[in-house]
Amino acid sequence: MSASTPSHSSGATDASHASLASLAIDRVLHDDMQIDPPEHALRNARIQQADVEALYARSIADPEGFWGEVAQQFEWFRPWERVFVQDEYPAFRWFEGAQVNITHNALDRHAQGPNANRVAYIALGEDGSEQIVTYRQLLRLVNRAANVLRGEGIGLGDRVVIYLPLSLPGIVAMLACARIGAVHSVVYAGLGAGALRDRITDAEARVVITADVGYRRGRAVPLRPIVDEAIRDLAQVQRVFVWQREGAELVGDERVRDWQAALDNASSDCPVVPVDAEHPLYVLYTSGTTGKPKGVVHTHGGYMVGTAWHMQTFFDLREDDVFWCMSDIGWVVGHSYIVYAPLVCGATTVFREGSIDFPHPGIAFEVIEKYGVTVAFTAPTAVRMLMKFGDATPARYDMRSLRLLTCAGEPLNPEAWRWAYQHLCGGGSHGYLIDNWWQTELGGPTIATLPVMSVRPGAAGLPLAGVVADVVDRDGRSLPDNVGGLLVLKTPFPHMYRTVYGDPERYARDWSIVPGVYTSGDVAMRDADGYITVLGRADDVINVAGHRIGTAEVESALVSHPAVAEAAVIGRPDELRGQAIKAFVTLRAGQQPGEEMHALLVAHVRSVCGPIATPAAIEFRERLPKTRSGKIMRRLLKAEELGVDPGDLTTLEE
Ligand code: AMP
Repeated sequence: MSASTPSHSSGATDASHASLASLAIDRVLHDDMQIDPPEHALRNARIQQADVEALYARSIADPEGFWGEVAQQFEWFRPWERVFVQDEYPAFRWFEGAQVNITHNALDRHAQGPNANRVAYIALGEDGSEQIVTYRQLLRLVNRAANVLRGEGIGLGDRVVIYLPLSLPGIVAMLACARIGAVHSVVYAGLGAGALRDRITDAEARVVITADVGYRRGRAVPLRPIVDEAIRDLAQVQRVFVWQREGAELVGDERVRDWQAALDNASSDCPVVPVDAEHPLYVLYTSGTTGKPKGVVHTHGGYMVGTAWHMQTFFDLREDDVFWCMSDIGWVVGHSYIVYAPLVCGATTVFREGSIDFPHPGIAFEVIEKYGVTVAFTAPTAVRMLMKFGDATPARYDMRSLRLLTCAGEPLNPEAWRWAYQHLCGGGSHGYLIDNWWQTELGGPTIATLPVMSVRPGAAGLPLAGVVADVVDRDGRSLPDNVGGLLVLKTPFPHMYRTVYGDPERYARDWSIVPGVYTSGDVAMRDADGYITVLGRADDVINVAGHRIGTAEVESALVSHPAVAEAAVIGRPDELRGQAIKAFVTLRAGQQPGEEMHALLVAHVRSVCGPIATPAAIEFRERLPKTRSGKIMRRLLKAEELGVDPGDLTTLEE
């Protein structure tokens, strides 16, 4: 273990291996590369290397003292009486008795001080358009929108569905709801009418804010027909505001109003509404890789404190940074790291509507160069796509402004890690690349490495401050190092979800699958130094002749072949071995599928992972099915293979 890799391993119990056999997952990929943090990170990071271990220890030994201290930097309308209260398990509260409003800290605190003219957002379009908004301007825009909603009778606790693309009006609509204590539910503007209707119904929203179109890959993608279909005969929806981007005349029934016209007529003053720290901020439906979406509820107080803390320490954001988060407001990453935490921290954030490879494959690099982006957040699917285009594209751009690249959403294969480190981070000469694991339910980075810690490509990292993670069997017993099992979290942190909207039983289930802990639904393993590698979703584990294999390792082995851009593996029934591995592969530009490639890749996986992980079949595909948030949908591949109903596909990318 390197001196720079603190271990938080909670250690293994003496549980017998035999009793774990039904769950224990075999390790098939051995990639022991370790990269130590570059000099620039060690010199400048907000949390210094020497302090990491003590900080973590304190956050676990005294969570109330730790989070209470973090919370001091924000403005509260009324202070808390207690930092943490455990109600009847699994319910809990943070900052009990406090009054706050996240938008006061995100907007007013900056707009009323010396930072009023600081740039909050640089909003980019695929067509090269650029809009710059300061904190002062943003506050006024939000106030107008809040007044429009108030005019509709929207107030404390009322739900508003926002079906808008990644855009300033989308962000403003979110903040406007929060400002008056209403609860937004953003639905990714790309999901179909069925998914939208389900979410409007589940959230019991009576107001919907949308646009006529979104822009993607140079095309105007109509949104109105989707909304119209979603709300047909849905009396619950009493008002639909439409942002007319194309300038056409607004049509629709008596419920429909022009959003821009309403904003123009509204006052730009709107007092912020103090709410209880535990008051719901938003409901966000999870992306649904595994079935029926659930409405995850986050709060004003704890969510603000926790997400901002990670903005400051994991993203290491400073006042002069230019931050670019390549997600969308339709996902939790966009909520936490396009909207709330960057604003609470007073940052300048770049966002861009549209596709990351349009109008040309180098556009992501161009944006970083042009705006001098210093810290960025992307996803493995984006890295693998850039990798597929080849090395010549990044070579044309100057990436030297980028000091930190962070990645989350799926396992970041070691090969993709190496590629991005080389081509976006200059091999460490100016940048560093860190992974981070979390979920909609968790609000912010949970397992990761800080910028001063060593990275083990393929591993997500170590539990961050406040996080007690473990890898356990079905009965909750800790598994030994290097044995895969269920990834669970043992204690709640402030920015964790509080319930599932309208379905408290489902929330309770998440906390009782394994007794007494939160079960993430992922399988993972921990090495001797405490680094946790996510092996895939528990539902996707493949069982070959009694060996349980996570999807991520076999996929990483495939991606480590220079011909492969992306891979997905599933188990299919096999008379002899129970299950056999079937792989779906997309090749890099210029590579030819066929028998020769098939044989080459089978031999490659066999040599990297060993004979038990040998794919029985490889199918070449132009594209792999993904959720709209870019996660490979193995469930669909499996259903196709078995000829069965794939279940809910509303989040499938077309
Ligand atoms: P969502 O709630 O839609 O954000 O999806 C969360 C899921 O994405 C997790 O349960 C993991 O399966 C996956 N995930 C997110 N980040 C990572 C990561 N850094 N490494 C591996 N898997 C990840």
